[in-house]
Amino acid sequence: MPALGQGRLHGECLMAGECDRCGECCRRSTPALHEEDLKLIGESGGLDLVHLVTFRRGELVHDQVRGVLAPLHEEVVKLRSRPHSWECFFLNEDSGDGAGCGRYEQRPLECKLLLCKNPAPLAEAYATGRITRLDIVGGHGAVAELIAAHEDQCGYEELAAWARRLHLDASNREAAETILAAVHFDARAREILTGRLPEMNEEDRAAVAACCLGRPLAETLSMFGLSIARQEDGAIRLSASGTIHHPAARP
Ligand code: SF4
Repeated sequence: MPALGQGRLHGECLMAGECDRCGECCRRSTPALHEEDLKLIGESGGLDLVHLVTFRRGELVHDQVRGVLAPLHEEVVKLRSRPHSWECFFLNEDSGDGAGCGRYEQRPLECKLLLCKNPAPLAEAYATGRITRLDIVGGHGAVAELIAAHEDQCGYEELAAWARRLHLDASNREAAETILAAVHFDARAREILTGRLPEMNEEDRAAVAACCLGRPLAETLSMFGLSIARQEDGAIRLSASGTIHHPAARP
């Protein structure tokens, strides 16, 4: 298996003598995909929907250039990370030659450009030519309509505003009900989407849903200091007692 950043080590980076294959950039975040990466999707040995995840407008992500968590102005499609981590799904720590990249031949543009000690090449390309999920699934049809409806009901900018109201006043029923309605819509949209998929395991179904609809609200509400728990009677209870990471949700 190729070593981590081998393209950098044996290509641009070796010449610059800058990449020491520490693996840190692949542990901190995954690359957003650009127009140049579209050809990788669906090609033999390339990327499939199960390898991708959409981060929606307003969602907190790690900005690789600034090195901070910041809300997105526009959605991005990124390589999937490992569960409960920002580490790239393709990072192989046991490749026998230090950390390794499991998609070296088909690594995305940002992987080729990112040099820890010289962020200039990545910074130059970072925000230009990024693709959205509609570039992958198409702008028309049932999936595109589901994405539009989901964004309408579960948009992060609106949810951040409702979360802020709830943090200001824990008895704000309208805020709690609006957020819970979004949670239910999100779960239902995933059921509809995955119900149309061909035979595949549950993990892959969830991964395709994360590509088409972003990460589940049940996971991402924590950025607003919110959490949900299912009660014994099946009802979902919303709690607003967590740490608020998202700036728009802070009172
Ligand atoms: S695709 Fe490879 S080089 Fe790019 S972040 Fe993942 S492990 Fe690192």
